[in-house]
Amino acid sequence: IWKESDRLQMLIADLLDLSKIEHAQFQLHLEQVSLKEIANEAVALLASKAKDKEMSINVYEEGSSIIQGDSQRLKQIVINLVTNAVAYTPANGQVTISLIEKQNEVELHVVDTGIGINSTDKLRIFERFYRVDRARSRNSGGTGLGLAIVKHLAEAHHAKLQVVSAEGEGTTFTLRFPKKQS
Ligand code: ATP
Ligand code: MG
Repeated sequence: IWKESDRLQMLIADLLDLSKIEHAQFQLHLEQVSLKEIANEAVALLASKAKDKEMSINVYEEGSSIIQGDSQRLKQIVINLVTNAVAYTPANGQVTISLIEKQNEVELHVVDTGIGINSTDKLRIFERFYRVDRARSRNSGGTGLGLAIVKHLAEAHHAKLQVVSAEGEGTTFTLRFPKKQS
């Protein structure tokens, strides 16, 4: 019962947040943010979950990962993506967060060695409540709102969001953030 009520609370919190974001009833508090710092914070939060599955999470930075954005919201994006990467990767797998500076953008890649997503599901995973194979993913405790939230927060940051995946091999979510918000 406790587990279910915990889940329900998370669901309600996520739904309220998502509807605020969808209706643009929220503001980004823009500042200079180091994505490397955000990634390290997210990794620290998820370390015990990863350890339980004997997984390692690594952060790799090439150039500067400083962008203009909302640190709380960026952290929410990274936590949602890395939580998924850990949840949908079998034990002993690996998750890498890569931050690559380009001329006008900073790329954030969340790479896992997990179960992957087929091309039909790939078209739908950003919809609210969409989950691939509900029965199997039920014990991972999710509700299907994480990526919908990521998508809207990425849009709010004018970031391009892309997913590349191969079933049984792994998945990479990529976000390309402009260095400065116009
Ligand atoms: P929550 O609301 O707790 O995040 P969730 O993880 O099920 O629940 P999303 O994060 O929106 O919801 O993801 C939607 C679905 O996309 C997942 O249920 C899963 O089937 C699939 N998925 C997401 N990330 C990955 C990944 N890295 N590898 C494989 N499948 C994934
Ligand atoms: Mg999720």
